[in-house]
Amino acid sequence: MQFKQINDFCYYFHGAVNIGYVHKGDSGMIIDAGIDAQTMKKVLDHLDEHALPVTHLFITHAHSDHYGGGSYLQQDRPIYTFAPYYEEAILRNPSLEPLYLFGGNDPVPELRNKFLEGKPIFIDEVLQEGVYERDGFHFTTFLLPGHSYYQLGILIHDCLYAGDAYFSEEQLHKHKIPFLTDAYHAIQSLYRLKDIKCDGAVPGHGQFEEDFHPTVDANIAYHHELLHMLKQYIEDQEFVSHEEIIAYMCETFKVTVNQLSQWLLFRTAITAYLIALLKQEQIEYQIHQYRWMFNLKEKE
Ligand SMILES: [Zn+2]
Repeated sequence: MQFKQINDFCYYFHGAVNIGYVHKGDSGMIIDAGIDAQTMKKVLDHLDEHALPVTHLFITHAHSDHYGGGSYLQQDRPIYTFAPYYEEAILRNPSLEPLYLFGGNDPVPELRNKFLEGKPIFIDEVLQEGVYERDGFHFTTFLLPGHSYYQLGILIHDCLYAGDAYFSEEQLHKHKIPFLTDAYHAIQSLYRLKDIKCDGAVPGHGQFEEDFHPTVDANIAYHHELLHMLKQYIEDQEFVSHEEIIAYMCETFKVTVNQLSQWLLFRTAITAYLIALLKQEQIEYQIHQYRWMFNLKEKE
């Protein structure tokens, strides 16, 4: 992990999952906590070495790679923790993630791993979208749903920490089918990002960029391409089951799916694109012979 300075106040640890840091006088805010205790320990060691304070934690969304190190941080020192509305319920009860991915059934043991379920953390203050002033920190939060239900980005000292609202192009091509809960909201959030006035942005995965709009545009284009492909497949098949759609998309993108957890994540991601096509009234569904079936919506 490399510690990178963005401006007089803003920094980030650049790694597989970025961890932001904002320094203001005697206060220091960590933005997202990495996946585990080991990662957080490295972050704290580095900040301690440079005599940089750690007093606050802000979590963008309740995915374990962004909050898994939070429990260690809270045990190591007194810390005031902010989390978005709704996401905070999962942060306090992390088994909700394997539970929802598993469609509400009690998760099988395989699903209870650190990639789907971090240690619970305490939340001092639940945030919505808004302008906040807390202990010398002035910041604005932006609701950026689509990758998770109630993700918040944070704009502080002209730097936008965007969580997973967009990915670097490298990440997009690596994941092939990026994790989304609703592709319609994800695309709206991408347009929203372009309206936020700032000096640059840090995504959850990728590099800080002053001019991040081309990367956001690449995300928009990527989602549209995927939607087009999915619609084309449904049109070609005429009437096709949810299960067939999942298999077709995974096969086409040649994604690695050896484990149930991976399959469940792709099922959610692909369903997120189906939701977008439904919202755009391009497709419709019905239950037919006990199967969830999709077809193109007839134009009236
Ligand atoms: Zn995420």
